[in-house]
Amino acid sequence: MATFAADPSVPRTPADKITAALVDPGFGRYFVDHMARAVWTPEAGWHDHALVATGPIPLHPGLAALQYGQEIFEGLKAFRHADGSVWLFRPEMNAARFARSAERMQMPPLPIPDFLDSVTRLVELNLDWVPSAPDQSLYLRPFMFGSETLIGVRASNEYTYVCLGMPVMPFYPDPLKLWVSPHYARSMVGGTGDAKCGGNYGASMIAENEAHAQGCGQVLWLDSATRSWVEESGTMNFLVVTADGELVTPALNGQILAGITRDSLLTIAAAHGLRAVERPLGFAELCAGIESGVITEALACGTAAVVSPVIGIKTPDLELVVGDGTPGTKTRELRAHLTGIQFGTEPDLHGWLHRVG
Ligand SMILES: *Cc1c(COP(=O)(O)O)cnc(C)c1O
Repeated sequence: MATFAADPSVPRTPADKITAALVDPGFGRYFVDHMARAVWTPEAGWHDHALVATGPIPLHPGLAALQYGQEIFEGLKAFRHADGSVWLFRPEMNAARFARSAERMQMPPLPIPDFLDSVTRLVELNLDWVPSAPDQSLYLRPFMFGSETLIGVRASNEYTYVCLGMPVMPFYPDPLKLWVSPHYARSMVGGTGDAKCGGNYGASMIAENEAHAQGCGQVLWLDSATRSWVEESGTMNFLVVTADGELVTPALNGQILAGITRDSLLTIAAAHGLRAVERPLGFAELCAGIESGVITEALACGTAAVVSPVIGIKTPDLELVVGDGTPGTKTRELRAHLTGIQFGTEPDLHGWLHRVG
């Protein structure tokens, strides 16, 4: 395994400046002092692992990622507990998914130990940047892109890996109404829906703006072929709670991103009297269930917002209110439980936390 060694010349932000930044860190307003970086070439494989100063990197404008979109990313968080210790949440899951996304995009996977070393050392070296205010955290954004100057279409022969770190605000998600677009889809059979690649996001902006124009916070994505199966919500996974005690989410089918928050909620469901069920979820079944009261709650989940309550569904022909139109009880319990594990106030029964400082 290669280690990410710190460049000793990286300028350090003085403690008083960090304290001032942490008063209102926003989401991506401030970056920690170091970023991880490594480069891949066919001759040398992954090399030049280092923690260098966060800042611009010189790149040729003809680079492959800008021309043909070979880019993948991850998102994970480090949390400070009341005793001052700092922990990463399930980073090995992000490392494995990053490798799977790379495979799909014909990029050389960053070895899992290298990924884990990059995020661990980045946090270790920038512990002062990990907020201690309630519900704030340090967000990590590992990403990789084809960095060869390349105008002919083929897989790049050079890749650059970077991981950025930034303190982030507590994210108290507004209850969401979801828009079912009659026009757009996020992914298709044989496509890249289960890879975390930048292009998926570029392609989804138009539907997201359509949702906003409809007074909805996010999109509810249906399958592109038949528009009859529920897939995801915006950049989050989608789940429902049923009156007979199930937590149902669409089964991973190649078009759905395998969220780590999704997996975590399915795992802790039993502690809340819920049976976790992964199966195809029909859109007609969803609508009928909301109308009849068989479906009592709906929620969306992902690393940034953790759990967002879903209180309504809107299509061009109908508008449905989930439950009584306010965040559901199980939704609130699941969110409190998962954030409790992350911040060290609930027991970590599954070994999800990795101490870094
Ligand atoms: C990242 C992402 C998610 C959520 O994954 P987490 O690992 O829970 O953060 C869900 N759907 C899409 C499309 C995503 O890109």
